[in-house]
Amino acid sequence: MDSANLPAAPRPLLQRLAALFAGPTAPPAETPPSAEAPASAAALRAQVAALGDFLAENHLHLSHTTLCVALDCVSGNDPRLSGAIAHRRAAGEPVTFEWLAEMRGHHGPADELQSLTRLTDRLEDTVDVFTRTTQEAGRATSAYRTALGSQVAELQQGPQAGAVLSDLVAITRAMLERTREIEGQFARSEKQTRALHRSLEDARRAAEIDHLTGLPNRRSFESRFEREVVAARAAGEPLCLAFADIDRFKRINDTHGHEAGDRVLKVVAAVLGEISDDRCHVARHGGEEFVVLLRGRTMDQAFALLDSAREHLAERRMVNRATDVPFGKVTFSAGLADVFATSDPRAALKAADTALYAAKKDGRNRIVRAPVEPAPGTPAARPIPLRPTSRPRAA
Ligand code: GH3
Ligand code: MG
Ligand code: MG
Repeated sequence: MDSANLPAAPRPLLQRLAALFAGPTAPPAETPPSAEAPASAAALRAQVAALGDFLAENHLHLSHTTLCVALDCVSGNDPRLSGAIAHRRAAGEPVTFEWLAEMRGHHGPADELQSLTRLTDRLEDTVDVFTRTTQEAGRATSAYRTALGSQVAELQQGPQAGAVLSDLVAITRAMLERTREIEGQFARSEKQTRALHRSLEDARRAAEIDHLTGLPNRRSFESRFEREVVAARAAGEPLCLAFADIDRFKRINDTHGHEAGDRVLKVVAAVLGEISDDRCHVARHGGEEFVVLLRGRTMDQAFALLDSAREHLAERRMVNRATDVPFGKVTFSAGLADVFATSDPRAALKAADTALYAAKKDGRNRIVRAPVEPAPGTPAARPIPLRPTSRPRAA
């Protein structure tokens, strides 16, 4: 076998892995940084200044860890860490290097990156071994073929048949031995490849799960959204999308602490998770915001299902188990949009977000539907009457 024809290391796989950990896709309204659209010098200077401010305000020295933390907080890449820092500062506790290092130890993006790096290293090692084994097998086979060819030629022409035959036996024995070794190497490589495949699958699944709530994360939602749009279109089914955001969550953090806030987040995630099935997908979109994708349900049906979750949560009476102090009423508001109301399904993200904003403005603990935009050239549509929700009470 010609080593030039050997398969190259699977770069596309590595690239896909790198993309997997490269953070969620930016929402359409924002322009993601790219080679085509470099950040302006002014924007860069502002970002660097913001990093400096963050370090100075928290009395942190310049180091790899503190710079990474600052970048994650300033860019909004790690809302959990930003929230924890804000809460610690509000409580008058210092944000020290040791505390940051400890916080980063808990499932931060750096953690994911490290395990990706380890996995990629293992993958590259296995590919290297596999490539070497294949090359060796190719070289051994070609050497055997050459030696065999010349011995057969001598056997046909020469008078020393006995000597040639014993050479042939020696060559064949050597080849058998080499083949056995190569078979062993192949078996080991295959075992490693299978183990690696399982690790990659685990890593892929872990990369799509939100560590705190156990719900799919925003990255997972993005790909789910694309698949559901295709599936709903193909089946001629309706598709609705909602953003749900916990009301006055900052107040819960401020009153009960960040850890208690985390527990409340988990409860809200569980309540929303209860309405999920194979056609209703709930994901944590970030911070205290969730996204729900409902296929095969009309806006009325989607509204009713989401509203049942809203009511269920609002009726619960939660108590901070660490202090026995009640959390008060925990509620969420949501904005609901019909994904196919516009020609571009991604416009539904903006529509649901705007409706969520209206729900907050209208008093929270309610769901607001996005109005259907009239098609260009048609007379203005009458506004859709909002389905009444229970009157909001103070949270
Ligand atoms: P609104 O009703 O307008 O949504 O008010 P809000 O207080 O919920 O909204 P705001 O955006 O002012 O605050 C959201 C807070 O959520 C701030 C941030 O610290 C907190 N937060 C975000 N992610 C987490 C998290 O993972 N855990 C905890 N405990 N808090 C978080
Ligand atoms: Mg909120
Ligand atoms: Mg929010």
